[in-house]
Amino acid sequence: MLAVGVVHLKDDVIVRVNPAFRQIAGFGEQGLLGAAFSSLFARGEDAESFRRAWAEASARGEGLYVEYLLRKAGGGAFWARLCGRALGEAPNESAWTIEDSGERRELRNKLRLSEVIFEATAEGIYINDRENRIVATNPAFTAITGYSQEEVIGRDPSFLHAEAEDGSFTDEIWSVLEARGRWEGEVLQRRKNGEVFPEHLSVVPLRGAGDEISAYVALFSDMSKRKQDEERINFQANYDALTNLPNRRLLHDRLGRAIAVAAHSQSRTAVLYMDLDNFKFVNDSLGHSAGDLLLVDMARRMKACLREQDTIGRLGGDEFLVVLPQIGMVAEASAIAQRILDAVARPIAIKERDQDIVVTISIGISVFPEDGKTADDLIRSADTAANHAKRAGRNVFQFFTGDMNLRATERLNLENRLRRALDREELVLYYQPKVSLRHGRIVGVEALVRWDCPGEGLIPPDKFIPLAEETGLIIPIGEWVLRTACRQARKWQEAGLPPILTAVNMSARQLAKDGIYKDIIDIVDSCGLAPNYLELEITESSLMERAEEAIALLRDLRDMGIHLTADDFGTGYSSLSYLRTFPLDALKIDRAFVADIGSSGGGGAMLAAAVIAIGQSLGLRVIAEGVETAEQLAFLRQQWCDEIQGYFFSRPLPAEKFEAMLKENRRL
Ligand code: C2E
Ligand code: MG
Ligand code: MG
Repeated sequence: MLAVGVVHLKDDVIVRVNPAFRQIAGFGEQGLLGAAFSSLFARGEDAESFRRAWAEASARGEGLYVEYLLRKAGGGAFWARLCGRALGEAPNESAWTIEDSGERRELRNKLRLSEVIFEATAEGIYINDRENRIVATNPAFTAITGYSQEEVIGRDPSFLHAEAEDGSFTDEIWSVLEARGRWEGEVLQRRKNGEVFPEHLSVVPLRGAGDEISAYVALFSDMSKRKQDEERINFQANYDALTNLPNRRLLHDRLGRAIAVAAHSQSRTAVLYMDLDNFKFVNDSLGHSAGDLLLVDMARRMKACLREQDTIGRLGGDEFLVVLPQIGMVAEASAIAQRILDAVARPIAIKERDQDIVVTISIGISVFPEDGKTADDLIRSADTAANHAKRAGRNVFQFFTGDMNLRATERLNLENRLRRALDREELVLYYQPKVSLRHGRIVGVEALVRWDCPGEGLIPPDKFIPLAEETGLIIPIGEWVLRTACRQARKWQEAGLPPILTAVNMSARQLAKDGIYKDIIDIVDSCGLAPNYLELEITESSLMERAEEAIALLRDLRDMGIHLTADDFGTGYSSLSYLRTFPLDALKIDRAFVADIGSSGGGGAMLAAAVIAIGQSLGLRVIAEGVETAEQLAFLRQQWCDEIQGYFFSRPLPAEKFEAMLKENRRL
């Protein structure tokens, strides 16, 4: 029996919660009371969409039934069905039942998969309802029996069975099903043309909500001699004798089917055309039997890179084709292509040689619907792309569409160059002052990284930080930034310049790294900077990503004297009351709100004013970033904002320029 969680909310605050929900979400006995319900959403944007859906439903006097990914106390998340209604007497109160729906989701996914199987399998299938009427058949049913689906829907399937046409046979199946849950055996069946043939039949029940049998699925295969002959011929006609993989003809068929499904479900299908790079050399120098072994081994390796629903086949020679039905994003195809490249390039031992040899493969990728609407078109496009891959130096994949290609290669290129940027000392820090509105003096500085890429000039962080986060390169880059900024700060202090706070940006990925606390402390220590001159800026959304762990880490950092600031406030989750649970010193209103000040809409100005007031009531220093005009400055002053940062006072500057500014003690 599944446990059902119950939560009672007052606005967004949890005022009552049953043990079952604490258990589902992994909270201890005392957890959750007083917490914001919206903080349980694993994805920040979900909290907002949930809030909106509930506001709409409750305004109409209706309940709400939705499914969201909620986070678990110890990290991780689970799919939950939420069912809520307002409590009549108190309109801001609501009660919710919450069930873990992961299993049901899985079942739904399986059913979706089984739909594909239903369409594609060589076994005949029919589904019967409780009244013993056929409700569905698959294409193989028609191929084997000769009856179309229309001809048999609504009929009692006993007419198919040659042994007993009076229905006694199906009665027997039902009784066995009730008792044992499955029926299997060999029976004689009659085709539409009258021919009787042996078939292997298995029948499994489908159960309804109350566990009673509501229908059954019958699966049969033709066991006649004719069938066996056909199958052998079919195998020869459809499979490659060396690798036992589907041949061109069957691949074409499968691809056609995948296209039909993709067109129907508006998803994509990708084709990978693959050509071994140096196979001719192996064949010529080591002999054909070594070549054959190599092909078999490569086929096995490539197959292991695929998902269950994918097909790999051999087109002949050293050419292979993969059909990837139902891919969501184009990146899924490139990920599989990359896996294949890696698998093929692993050294292989060849008996004729004492040294292992390495072969590589070139892959061309085409995608339905972009690169072709038919199987022929897609194969041709993928072939063209494979030729490009060969010309591009082999052991790579290429998309047919230049655009997709560009994105994939740009990314790869950027990643490789970024990897080297650190060693080659191509990263530089710029420094942007923060000034106090109380006395107009510089009180802090934010270190902002740039990439001084030879031939390309200064690349802004927005162009490479996201990639660095995805690839994990942000860890070494972040360490470099922290070390460089701390060293610089220490140097300025030693030179007798006024002491200021030095701020460094931290991304979520860095916060999640094991041992990050020690890393930070070690770096600050080794630079000789007192921790209370360091400030870490963490975006609001990364704070929320792993809130529990983040809180613990931030507490430790703050205990060491490091200042903590929520960056880009207002762009993500924006719960000021929840923010209270983080040990923060300051928050930075995102520049989007500041930009709204003085513009016609002015909504951002109101928000900025509210954030300043509430932030300060929580004891936080409030900083406005992106201040560009005197008008914005005046407004922020009027609202008692603590500090500002922006082009109005200064753009981010190279270290020497900032140093000069600090020396001359420039003021607002
Ligand atoms: P951020 O932390 O919100 O930094 C402020 C950004 O606003 C900087 O862009 C800055 O140049 C820009 N800015 C400052 N004043 C103004 C203004 O008056 N008007 C306008 N329109 N923009 C202004 P930048 O340097 O391109 O950095 C962009 C983002 O890249 C940063 O946003 C930060 O999230 C990230 N970033 C930069 N350096 C690092 C780093 O070392 N580590 C990490 N993890 N992220 C970094
Ligand atoms: Mg920042
Ligand atoms: Mg910011």
